[in-house]
Amino acid sequence: MSDFDLIVLGAGPAGSAAAATAARAGLRVAIVDKRAFPRDKLCGGGFTGRSLTYYQEIFGRPAPDIPTEVRSDLMFGAHGQVLGHYTDIPPIRMMMRLELDNDLLATALGFGAADFTGVGNTTLDPRAGTVSFGDQVLRAPVIVGADGVNSATARALFGQAFDRETIAFALEIERPETDLPLRIDFGAAEWGYGWQFPKPNGVTIGVGGINGRNPDMKAALRGYLKDLGLPDDTPIKGQFLPGGTFRKTPGAGRILLAGDAAGLVDPITGEGIAYAMKSGQLAAMATAEALLAGRPETVLAVYTKSLRPIHRALNQARLIRPLMFRPFLREGFVAGFRRSTRLRRDYLRLLAGETEYGPITRAALARAPRHIWRSLRANRQAA
Ligand SMILES: Cc1cc2nc3c(=O)[nH]c(=O)nc-3n(C[C@H](O)[C@H](O)[C@H](O)COP(=O)(O)OP(=O)(O)OC[C@H]3O[C@@H](n4cnc5c(N)ncnc54)[C@H](O)[C@@H]3O)c2cc1C
Repeated sequence: MSDFDLIVLGAGPAGSAAAATAARAGLRVAIVDKRAFPRDKLCGGGFTGRSLTYYQEIFGRPAPDIPTEVRSDLMFGAHGQVLGHYTDIPPIRMMMRLELDNDLLATALGFGAADFTGVGNTTLDPRAGTVSFGDQVLRAPVIVGADGVNSATARALFGQAFDRETIAFALEIERPETDLPLRIDFGAAEWGYGWQFPKPNGVTIGVGGINGRNPDMKAALRGYLKDLGLPDDTPIKGQFLPGGTFRKTPGAGRILLAGDAAGLVDPITGEGIAYAMKSGQLAAMATAEALLAGRPETVLAVYTKSLRPIHRALNQARLIRPLMFRPFLREGFVAGFRRSTRLRRDYLRLLAGETEYGPITRAALARAPRHIWRSLRANRQAA
């Protein structure tokens, strides 16, 4: 039995941020992952301004030291049509998760986290506060489950991680082209979108949307590739992402959930790396506070309170999501995007992680009557 102050299960952005924060605060922290690193993770690898800010705060470095494609222009399309090529967007960084997650883990280990990656399947005993694998048993007063969208920790606590009908599902391919633009295509999937994210050595193309609304996501990807004029000859990979639903109480007892395991993905943009890192940091800070006070039983309350701003942002995003994605209303969004410089600027800043939902939600609700009117008119013209 090895004793720690904190065990972190999962070494993605949430887990490495938790381990880095705990180690920097002087806690004895173990980071455990079933996979050996470097390991891949299906993702667009879009690293927004929000991600960069959190990265700098948590990992204490200016930017991940890995190959990165930085673009400040974006092509925006809707339903097979290009609406515009905008050249003044805040920069979006794009990188491969294989390299990003390896960089995050290496930094956390450099701060002193104990490395238990590549250990295969793990067993969590929430009551005993232990995690075991092979013939090893680790014990700690607090455990952070940062084990992703299929979180075994959430399953151990609540029976299931998420209802797969209401969360999102996405498909992606990797292609070798290096000269393609950064591109977002609204409506490439129902209640979601398509993306073309250039990387230093190729391009990631994907479609994603609420799973229950997209019974044939492969057909959506094929249609999107056709719109992009690209062949349909590359292996496809798919994964769920919990955009649209999050756990109001992110854990139970002394077990906390962070990142995807807690459902912290933006339901409009699908951005999850930033909130994963932030929630990992907050979980470690809550652990340090509760242990320092000699009251580990308060850790979940402290953590839940600290997550309020993220929960508020996700609720605000959920409130305006129907204005963009509900079939009856989406024409109004597209028409508004064409005409309104402000709507366009707000959306592009949101996508780049340069603004929060508060002002956008207020503006969207104020514009809702005009939006509904535009939708009515567009639907009537199409009929
Ligand atoms: C197709 C797709 C595209 C996306 N594009 C973007 C994007 O461009 N930008 C963005 O910001 N977000 C994007 N996201 C969301 C983003 O990938 C996630 O929100 C983010 O990876 C969450 O980080 P995490 O640390 O919570 O979980 P993960 O990154 O999933 O890491 C979880 C870790 O836990 C480990 N693990 C799992 N089970 C166990 C276990 N039982 N024991 C030990 N370890 C375990 C796994 O091996 C893994 O290393 C995308 C998601 C998808 C599916």
